[in-house]
Amino acid sequence: MEKVLALIFSFIAFVIGLAFLITGRVALGLLLFAVALGILFLAYRRKETVIVEQKVEIGGDVSSQLLKCRNCGAELKKDSMEVKLGAVFISCPYCHSQYQLEEEPKW
Ligand SMILES: [Zn+2]
Repeated sequence: MEKVLALIFSFIAFVIGLAFLITGRVALGLLLFAVALGILFLAYRRKETVIVEQKVEIGGDVSSQLLKCRNCGAELKKDSMEVKLGAVFISCPYCHSQYQLEEEPKW
């Protein structure tokens, strides 16, 4: 969308520049040509910003497992899961032990 706008603007600048050239105002015409080229250059050389989204999905493999507290053997619920610094932690509602969930290597 922005590129289309840039194209339109540069075209307008080009046409006006051409009109100046025809009417004898060469300096202004050349200036507008330069503007047209500048707009095109900026529009097409600008790097697209890449938004890196980090998503931590809890579910799938984790939810199918029955998690048990290693300390007291109580069942650990998904509700007590917490995401801290990109890692998933689960805390026991009974003895308040905290565990870090680790993904199993996939190879
Ligand atoms: Zn426990």
